[in-house]
Amino acid sequence: MVSPMKPLHEMGVAELGRALGAKSVSSTELSQHLLARVTAAQALGAFLHVDAETALAAAAAADARRAAGETGALLGVPLAHKDIFVTADMPTTAGSKILAGYRSPFDATVVARLNAAGTVSLGKLNCDEFAMGSANENSAYGPAHNPWDLSRVPGGSSGGSATAVAARLVPAATGTDTGGSIRQPASFTGITGIKPTYGVCSRYGMIAFASSLDQAGPMARSAEDCALLLSAMSGFDERDATSVQQPAQDFHAQMLAAREGATAAQPLKGLRIGLPKEFFPAALSADVNGAVRQGLAELEKLGATLVDVSLPRTELAIPVYYIIAPAEASSNLSRFDGVKFGHRAAQFDDLLDMYKKTRAEGFGPEVKRRIMIGSYVLSHGYYDAYYLQAQKLRRMIADDFQQAFTQCDLIAGPVAPTVAWKAGEGADDPVKAYLADIFTLPGSLAGLPGMSVPVGFGEGGMPVGLQLIGNYFKEGQLLHAAHALQQASDWHLQAPAGI
Ligand code: GLN
Repeated sequence: MVSPMKPLHEMGVAELGRALGAKSVSSTELSQHLLARVTAAQALGAFLHVDAETALAAAAAADARRAAGETGALLGVPLAHKDIFVTADMPTTAGSKILAGYRSPFDATVVARLNAAGTVSLGKLNCDEFAMGSANENSAYGPAHNPWDLSRVPGGSSGGSATAVAARLVPAATGTDTGGSIRQPASFTGITGIKPTYGVCSRYGMIAFASSLDQAGPMARSAEDCALLLSAMSGFDERDATSVQQPAQDFHAQMLAAREGATAAQPLKGLRIGLPKEFFPAALSADVNGAVRQGLAELEKLGATLVDVSLPRTELAIPVYYIIAPAEASSNLSRFDGVKFGHRAAQFDDLLDMYKKTRAEGFGPEVKRRIMIGSYVLSHGYYDAYYLQAQKLRRMIADDFQQAFTQCDLIAGPVAPTVAWKAGEGADDPVKAYLADIFTLPGSLAGLPGMSVPVGFGEGGMPVGLQLIGNYFKEGQLLHAAHALQQASDWHLQAPAGI
């Protein structure tokens, strides 16, 4: 029954939902097809855990719901979760040895909501240890590889999610973004990802890195697919005190809603897109600049106007983030001590020795570095000099955005200063990787929604993403602009060779 369609793995979430609704394919067939691809693509390092039995049981349940007359855009659609979301039916490691063998008694809210919508999880996806990193090379379980060029990183920390979606192993995946971990890997692998406003998705069951910054979001191959997933993932959750109290939203409808004054040829007529001059520094690679400008020219053709704005504290976002995030991490990670979760040292003298040995064995070098930095900036005598100053600057960075949004509706720029780099390149210089976060950190610190949308290719034929940042709760506007761009262009439809 599937022959007249394009290959199942080429189909996105929306398309699959329609095919499932038309009964031209079953969730079981679809899941089997993708599970076979996952097995064949093991060398990519995208998955940390695959569970065919659980997946096929969920697929059969979705097929039974369809057979009973139930509908729903996501009912029976396969995906996979970043291994930072706890799941009751599969192990969760957060990419860390310290959580080896850990099984959560409950599902993260984001996972529970997607399950309720009928999505079928094929497994858990590789990521940097506790989401700390930009290349997926800080995973205790080995790296993931960029399907566009296996010698390059897929970005991070949601590197497994990006690899799996770009390699057509799953149509979509969950990710998390603390300082860019959805947007940057999406950019590096030519897929579409959205980090919503802080508070839109519940953090319950999402293993905490830096709680005032962590947000969940979807990664897929189009803005439309992201909109469908985000609608199911988001919404108030009484178990997360920072979850925003607002009714569930239909981001797909918001994405489709026509702008006032828009025409068929110019769906973005009247949309003002601000280009912060700090996002286009002289040091920006020419290839990234070229692709971003190409995307902006397309948005202009669709009716948007480009205006110059300024985010004067952009550079300060790096030191501010790399004080606040480790400070919060040092506190959050104190719970991993060998008592309740995962790994415990085999031999120890007393309780303190057990903590020490467990943590020394269980955490990787980047996590240890951040715990030490975090403990340092929070310690007596340094708190005022570092942590407090960083908090004050964080507010000023957020204020700069509000100033810019008096002149524009959306902000645009690159996601990262370069395309995906070669594996191993950042290994001995963590600061180099920190500096490459410059364009994603400001929006994270401000708690604003941001997207990465493919806009072409740069050095080595590697994908380049355009970053779009909206004001608080303007996910619908972001998705609308990204969708209009994708209706008029085909960068997002390009697949890596041999996939
Ligand atoms: N690259 C950033 C870091 O290493 C962001 C990570 C993230 O968003 N989780 O902290």
